[in-house]
Amino acid sequence: MGTRDPEQWAEARQVAARLDAEGVRTVALTWVDNAGITRVKAVPVRRLPQAVRRGVGMSPVFDAYTSEDATAPSAHLGGPDGDLRLFPDLDRITVLAAQPGWAWAPVDRYEQLGAPHPACQRQFARRMTDRAEAAGLRLRMGFETEWVVTRAPAPANTTASAGTDPAGPAEGADALEYPCAGPAYGMTRVVELSDYLRDIAEALALQGIDVLQLHPEYAAGQFEVSTAPADPVRAADEVVLVRETVRAVSVRHGLRASFAPSVVAGEVGNGCHLHLSLWRSDDSLHREAGAQWGLAPDAVRFLGGVLHALPALLAIGCPSPASYLRLAPSRWAGAYQCWGVENREAALRLVTGDPDDPEGGHAEVKSFDAAANPYLAVGAVIAAGLHGMAAGAALPPPVTGDPGLWGVRERARRGIVRLPASLPEAVEHLEKSAPLAEALGEVLLGAVLAVRRAEAARFAGSAAGEIAAATRWRY
Ligand code: GLU
Ligand code: MG
Repeated sequence: MGTRDPEQWAEARQVAARLDAEGVRTVALTWVDNAGITRVKAVPVRRLPQAVRRGVGMSPVFDAYTSEDATAPSAHLGGPDGDLRLFPDLDRITVLAAQPGWAWAPVDRYEQLGAPHPACQRQFARRMTDRAEAAGLRLRMGFETEWVVTRAPAPANTTASAGTDPAGPAEGADALEYPCAGPAYGMTRVVELSDYLRDIAEALALQGIDVLQLHPEYAAGQFEVSTAPADPVRAADEVVLVRETVRAVSVRHGLRASFAPSVVAGEVGNGCHLHLSLWRSDDSLHREAGAQWGLAPDAVRFLGGVLHALPALLAIGCPSPASYLRLAPSRWAGAYQCWGVENREAALRLVTGDPDDPEGGHAEVKSFDAAANPYLAVGAVIAAGLHGMAAGAALPPPVTGDPGLWGVRERARRGIVRLPASLPEAVEHLEKSAPLAEALGEVLLGAVLAVRRAEAARFAGSAAGEIAAATRWRY
């Protein structure tokens, strides 16, 4: 955690010296804004101790930034005034394997006089993790990163200049060139991109990321990497690092990675599913002897709370108008508010795993995508789950099969509703969610809502293809 503690200062000097000896010249200090964009200030490695001691300045305006770098009007944030201090987390500093000379650290954001910035998303995630701990609950989480890789376009298409659309010219989906032609989940793609995938695996391993799986996904040019469970803040840090590592390796191979929810409108998109397991110290709440699905009563209540809050959580986990191009039925994206045991169409999938594996059980929120700020996503899911626990939430009967194939009457008979099909709809649910409003606090919630409304207004009336084109290279 960012701090002015003198011991950290001494440690920072040692870390800086070690990094310098390893050839690191610059440290990228990142945080993720409410629109899901990873923003950065970089410092020379010799300035790291000062950064740890005093923080690095950055305007609070970015809390109100949209994914297209416009400022959304917000009651508390978004003006030209003020400054925040970014404090790098020394425990997470990582030498970047695919960016020689660079290291990376996530930051916590503080006000100039040392108070935590009320809109700091990473501290929000930590606050919610601490809240869970106070309720006797330990969470382990991990994100699944999906991306589509294409050949890089001519440089003229990649840079924005004043007065032009920051997304670049609206490149039609038919201009995309994929560097592999093999089928979904096909070994052909692994052979076609063998060196690229090896470099991704190697970079992640060198960076200490515990990869569970790396494989081709369904859509053209799509791949996925999933990482081992970790504490919630670390899980959010890791998904940022994984994404930037995949991006960096792609660049080195003359390729370009898109993590956008919808790369080609109308096709399967990129998800960023959140996996979570619930524990009381070392006992999994997914392994209760004799309980249905192995779920301890608190796990049922927690997951019931998450399921119930999903319409509002979508405004956090599916934050872009493009998210709703992806979130369609029958694409394994979780478009209905239901849960199921090993059901990949359910928004909340219970993974029971091998009953003999004491660590095997967990749940997966499938609806989320990589436009989400991962710190907001983990924090909001914890807040919803804790509220469910306190309120004694229940889980309805699990769903098997694809509700998208059933027809309106059958879904109504089973009480299964579609999750919000547009950003404004999700925002309405978030506005009405007392538990999420309380957890986020007025300033952070206000900024999130402002950004969502601005993005919804920007794309109101835009055709699906335009939304996909404008957001394809933003995340
Ligand atoms: N690409 C799918 C999505 O949009 C997910 C496929 C899967 O991993 O189940 O979420
Ligand atoms: Mg996947």
